Amino acid sequence: MKPETMKIGVLALQGAFIEHIKLLQDLGVAAVEIRKPTELADLDGLIIPGGESTTFGKLAVTFGMIEPLRALCAAGKPVWGTCAGMIFLAKEIGRAQPLLGVLDAKVKRNAFGRQVDSFEIDLMVPVLGAPPFHAIFIRAPLIESVGADVQVLARLDDGTIVAAQQANILVTAFHPELTRDSRFHRYFVEHVGKK
Ligand code: GLN
Repeated sequence: MKPETMKIGVLALQGAFIEHIKLLQDLGVAAVEIRKPTELADLDGLIIPGGESTTFGKLAVTFGMIEPLRALCAAGKPVWGTCAGMIFLAKEIGRAQPLLGVLDAKVKRNAFGRQVDSFEIDLMVPVLGAPPFHAIFIRAPLIESVGADVQVLARLDDGTIVAAQQANILVTAFHPELTRDSRFHRYFVEHVGKK
């Protein structure tokens, strides 16, 4: 499927959804804001943006989105979570808040401590090739461990996992939508969920 024929949703309950929509539109993809279960019906993929994962959880419960979102993931549709979106997709975060629980990984919220709440680094991401990707971390989570079916896409120099993929589920601890570099969005629309 060509990007120009795709319709990708961006969960717009809260958080940085507009930036994702702009980057998708730059790639020629029809991008729509998603707030209700019925809006998921004809999507070719979904992005869950950064924001506040506890708020996503509460609003998703209120709007009846939890099971429809799980069903979309189970149907093999490409789904990408950035930052809070990654937390929301994870199976295990060590505390009680509503999660989709579809990514076989243990994720730690606000993992980088106060002094370095936010930082930016040039990150080698082998699936994107050269040059390194400028990764922006904002009160970011990290991935502590992944299951056997999860492929690690990027690590910090100390080995911390910050991007991963499990079949149709892509996660990044950082915010590609806050850069001008559309390689992660292109990777998502072209490769994720494809056999
Ligand atoms: N700290 C937020 C959370 O726990 C995530 C921050 C972000 O998405 N930039 O959900």
